[in-house]
Amino acid sequence: MIVTRFAPSPTGYLHIGGLRTALYSYLYARANGGKFLLRIEDTDLKRNSEEATIAIREAFDWCGLDYDGEVAYQSKRFDVYKEYVKKLLDEGKAYKCYMSKEELDELRAQQEARKERPKYDNRYRDFTGTPPAGIEPVIRIKAPMEGEIVIKDGIKGEVKFKVEDILDDFIIARSDGTPTYNFTVVIDDALMGVTHVIRGDDHLSNTPKQIVLYDALGFKKPEFFHVAMINGEDGKKLSKRHGATDVMEYKRMGYLPEALLNFLVRLGWSHGDDEIFNMDDMLKFFDPHDINKSSSTYNAQKLDWLNAHYIKTLPYERLAKEMKEFGVDFNSHAKGELLLNILRERSKTLIDMSKAANSIINAPTEYDQKAYDKFITVQTKEILTKFSEILTLNLDAKGYETLTNEFLQANEVKLKDLAQALRVALTGNSVSPGIFEVLEVLGSTETKNRITKILN
Ligand code: GLU
Repeated sequence: MIVTRFAPSPTGYLHIGGLRTALYSYLYARANGGKFLLRIEDTDLKRNSEEATIAIREAFDWCGLDYDGEVAYQSKRFDVYKEYVKKLLDEGKAYKCYMSKEELDELRAQQEARKERPKYDNRYRDFTGTPPAGIEPVIRIKAPMEGEIVIKDGIKGEVKFKVEDILDDFIIARSDGTPTYNFTVVIDDALMGVTHVIRGDDHLSNTPKQIVLYDALGFKKPEFFHVAMINGEDGKKLSKRHGATDVMEYKRMGYLPEALLNFLVRLGWSHGDDEIFNMDDMLKFFDPHDINKSSSTYNAQKLDWLNAHYIKTLPYERLAKEMKEFGVDFNSHAKGELLLNILRERSKTLIDMSKAANSIINAPTEYDQKAYDKFITVQTKEILTKFSEILTLNLDAKGYETLTNEFLQANEVKLKDLAQALRVALTGNSVSPGIFEVLEVLGSTETKNRITKILN
């Protein structure tokens, strides 16, 4: 069975880069009847892990991702890690190192002076003497001292590391007994039965250490997929500098989860030339082996384009529900469905849509000054007055169009002289959807009221 996991360090919110690897892991597990697990890597205890989980759960809920079983917290698993440290010590695969901070600093300084890579010099590796007094030892793993570590990465192919270049007998438990990062990751991935580790390639340099640990512990290694980073349009690694990185910020900005997931799945993966992938498509086509080797570029316009696509195509009820969170209740308006269907054709975000909806649902309390000065003139006021007189019945858009055309002919008026003034009267500004559709939504009485208001 395929078991994947998402293992965020608690940063208080879910980053879109994190959501992307979570999505990839989720898709691979779900498409194959496997399991997708969530583990919070909160061993440094500086942040509140509960808050981080709430933030992640909130983002997962919004996106419709779910995980199997209980959330695993590393902070609650210290006993497990201790047990495995002891096992490695007992088997002679790890050892206590009593080097003091001063000694370590001195070693570093010497290595720096010789322009060597800073690395531990194995001085306690085979130590059998009496330990120096007053020093709580750290625990180091006996790492290979030469040769190569080869990672068979599902994305990058074979990645080889020369032991001399990257390894030393690294610490697996600090002097206060707390385990180090790479150690906890390996123990947990192994004990949780993770078969496929999909994560950012900023972790690639940790993987040789993790492989050393898998081997020492006798655990079966998972398949690794190191996903290349998302860059901003300036080519630099995506960060807050480039705008939003918090997943929930996208919700607040009026993006739909479908659009964000579609956007993220394509950032780093493709299937032919296709751009639109709903969840079913993703589950059908996504395979982590097809993830791109090279980094991807965040493209804000693409996200807008996808969002517009989903705004256009989602079922009415779904969109109406989303819009309630933006303060617009389409269901409480007699012509709500029509209005939403008109607005969805021209909205990039739910915020755009809520602004446009409000400007139609609510009579204007003020008018855009420029639009008013340009379109509300003595002449157009006269046209509006006359037009208002023929509004007796509620019609549909076609009906209003016919009525208006008859009016224009009879009064020798051009459509633009009526339409722009009418837009300002009805919505407060000169941009709105098709005027006949707006008339249908408002009906004749409300239209007349708004015309009367602007005339006075
Ligand atoms: N906790 C790590 C992070 O948030 C991820 C570790 C992993 O996926 O192996 O970057």
